[in-house]
Amino acid sequence: MIRASSVNTALEIIGDRWTLAILHQALLGIHGFEIFQRELKIPRSTLSSRLSHLVKFNILSRTSSPDPDQRYDYRLTATGIDLFDTALLALAWQKRWVGIPYQAALIHRNSDHVIDPVMICEHCQDPVKAHDVSFHPGPGASRVERSRKRRRRSSSAAPQSDILPISEELLDLLGDRWTPQVVALGFFGIRRFDDMQETLGLASNILTDRLKRAVKMKLFTQHVYQTRPARKEYRLTEKGLDLYPMLVALTQWVDRWWPTPGGPPLLLKHTPCGNQLRGIVICETCQVPVKPGDSRLTDSAA
Ligand SMILES: [Zn+2]
Ligand SMILES: [Zn+2]
Repeated sequence: MIRASSVNTALEIIGDRWTLAILHQALLGIHGFEIFQRELKIPRSTLSSRLSHLVKFNILSRTSSPDPDQRYDYRLTATGIDLFDTALLALAWQKRWVGIPYQAALIHRNSDHVIDPVMICEHCQDPVKAHDVSFHPGPGASRVERSRKRRRRSSSAAPQSDILPISEELLDLLGDRWTPQVVALGFFGIRRFDDMQETLGLASNILTDRLKRAVKMKLFTQHVYQTRPARKEYRLTEKGLDLYPMLVALTQWVDRWWPTPGGPPLLLKHTPCGNQLRGIVICETCQVPVKPGDSRLTDSAA
């Protein structure tokens, strides 16, 4: 059930550093091949393959460019634009925990406030917190075939942008096929190495490496639960727990656009109100859902 969760599917699609960096630029309004190339300093063949990948999943559409210097334009489709919520939550998490100052900020509508996104439950309007959500298998739980497709290796080069930058840390976290899935286990109460390995079906060296990374990023702390032989379990820190709304947004995105036949593999219940969880992302200041067209960039720091 957990293995089949939609986080897995999402990472099949976007769990790659360059893919994330391209999506980030696309959300900021960039759509020409040459501009992507220049902004990201990405090898042309790599850019080409990542763009094709995003076109294949219908996140970008490719059209002939009116600009004589460009062959094609790559624009976000409705599916791509629908990642806006997830991106807002990811950047807000980064702002809280990684501390990159915004050199530009997203201003809400024609107001004077910076968007502070928060996920609330659609039913009771309470902010969504990890410990307020329980889970059980959904109707599609047995139908998801685990993809065995190998992911290409992540590039170590660091794409960077001057505006609303993505930190290395966020790229390390989300631009990887496995790290978010290992972190997500914490939300299911799976804390021990053997249980993690069994749940994800991961080679032990990969799991060891990702746990090491997650501890280094202070997403997990290690606790000894047995001394002879020594055994440790991994518990989410506040920083790790705070990733929860973003992972929910990502999961909802997958379930909207690539629904599992028969229904979602995993159902989440918001325990304070007892309803199936549907998170919506609102601006904390004016308490209305944030839409991609509702924001503008400013040069002033947040
Ligand atoms: Zn609720
Ligand atoms: Zn607002």
